[in-house]
Amino acid sequence: MIKLKGIAASSGIGVGKAYFIGTEEFTIPKRKISHEDISREIYRLEEGLIETRKEISALQKRISDDLGFDHAKIFEAHLLVLEDRVLIEDIIGHIKNKKVNVEYAFSESIKKYVNTLLSLEDEYLRERVIDIEDVSRRVLRKLLKKETVSLQELKEKVIIVTHDLAPSQAASLPKENILAFVTDVGGITSHTAIIARSLGIPAVVGVEIATKNIKSGNKLIVDGAAGEILVNPSAKLFKEYHKKYLKQAKEIKSIHISKAVKARTKDKKEVVVSANIEIPEELPLVHKFGAEGVGLYRTEYIFLGRRDLPFEEEQYKAYLNVVKKVKPYPVIIRTIDIGGDKFLSQPTVPVEMSPFLGWRAIRFCLARPDVFKVQLRAILRASAEGNVKVMFPMISGVEELREAKRLLQECKVELKEEEKNFDKNISVGTMIEVPSAALTADVLAQESDFFSIGTNDLIQYSLAVDRANEKVAYLYEPGHPAVLRLVKNIIDAAHKKGILVGMCGEMSGEPLFAFLLVGLGLDEFSMAPPRVPRIKELIRHIKYEDAKEVADKIMKLPTASEVEKCLQQELKKILMDDFNRILMI
Ligand code: PEP
Ligand code: MG
Repeated sequence: MIKLKGIAASSGIGVGKAYFIGTEEFTIPKRKISHEDISREIYRLEEGLIETRKEISALQKRISDDLGFDHAKIFEAHLLVLEDRVLIEDIIGHIKNKKVNVEYAFSESIKKYVNTLLSLEDEYLRERVIDIEDVSRRVLRKLLKKETVSLQELKEKVIIVTHDLAPSQAASLPKENILAFVTDVGGITSHTAIIARSLGIPAVVGVEIATKNIKSGNKLIVDGAAGEILVNPSAKLFKEYHKKYLKQAKEIKSIHISKAVKARTKDKKEVVVSANIEIPEELPLVHKFGAEGVGLYRTEYIFLGRRDLPFEEEQYKAYLNVVKKVKPYPVIIRTIDIGGDKFLSQPTVPVEMSPFLGWRAIRFCLARPDVFKVQLRAILRASAEGNVKVMFPMISGVEELREAKRLLQECKVELKEEEKNFDKNISVGTMIEVPSAALTADVLAQESDFFSIGTNDLIQYSLAVDRANEKVAYLYEPGHPAVLRLVKNIIDAAHKKGILVGMCGEMSGEPLFAFLLVGLGLDEFSMAPPRVPRIKELIRHIKYEDAKEVADKIMKLPTASEVEKCLQQELKKILMDDFNRILMI
């Protein structure tokens, strides 16, 4: 057995046989043609391009119907390649000047095109190479009269293993037959990862050596949450994981909790359990898992993977869609948090030495009010149609908050002058994810309508541990006394000023910490939709008074491991027979 590690892109367990998708290699015949044959070869080129265009348009329509317009948009780039006059003229020039057949001329021109793009070392253009290769394979299949290899024809349930999935392949997958994805390349925000998450398929990406070590038919265990793959595990291990997989599948099917079921403790303290979302495909999950609204809408995904910036109208439509579907429950829209590990494909955004400490989130937005105000206007307009709150990420001091609020006010004045509707009393929240903000929470609370604690970043900044570096992952401890003291300080400061405080970092979806957070007085818990039912169930089985008592005890402990041990013991005592059931939901 070998164990491979990659990036945990979509959680869940996949157990089954590998299905290897190689990059399709064609043998391109090279034939000399006579002068008289030139027009025939050019005609074949045009015919091939027209047929491919038809094929892509049909695929685009199908994906748009099945998965939504956003996923179908990737085909626009494919259609543009087919209409690229420079490329087409180059192919025709090749046929005419070198007197070669169309397949050969086409593949030579594409190679030249791709090499030029690769030499530019631009991340956005490298991504475009995938589109160009994808579309050129389609054209070559037409010219060579090969049948389209379609994943739609998969007859059995498999784990897809590939160097990279072309965007059109990823979007057109037969979901019911895919157990998991494993890819050599890609990151947490790669298109494959985003689609996997929205479809609820476990995925490990960026494994680098997956295709070298896995062959079709190999038995695999894919743990999407741990980012691990076991290749040809022992029969015993395979059976063990297969049981886990079946249990997980059954549980996912059976979990369907109503929003009307309140997250209320036995002694009647009510909190809100809401969902974090990134793309509209996650909206059905918000309903399915009974989240009482969206506690964090990460808007970066509208901005990533493109060279241009989304216009106000495009953003407005995207936000409106979410707001309308979640109505009457609230949606907390976070303004863009690019930088860190989420980059814009824009030449104006520089590569930085320490991106997590650099030109990120609100810092970028305040430096680029032209970009920021477009988003603020779109959010404000969407607020006219539902329950919208806005919040700013990475605030490190009150001056940034004031400046962001000033720009928001400017947008309100503009919209009023233009007679466009918006919620005049829109709530404005501050994300507390930088230690300086946590320590001055009392000051920030005076000028915020609510707080949302971003522990994913707060932990990395307070413990000086890069959240994306697996070498120091053992130091990334939510239960570290330093983190707990900061969290307590934020909650107490908010309550002193009479504002509500939520948490949208991963910590609030962890049952042991959720128990502690109830005791510390947190008002809203926001997490990935599938985690909602477990946390709701947990809260319904505990007493606030007990959680408070345990929290007092926890705050005196010196290490993260003692904190976790104590939480586990105390929660076991309270839940008794329900402990295992609730933690396994
Ligand atoms: C956080 O930092 O906890 C958070 C929710 O934001 P993100 O993970 O998008 O940085
Ligand atoms: Mg953050």
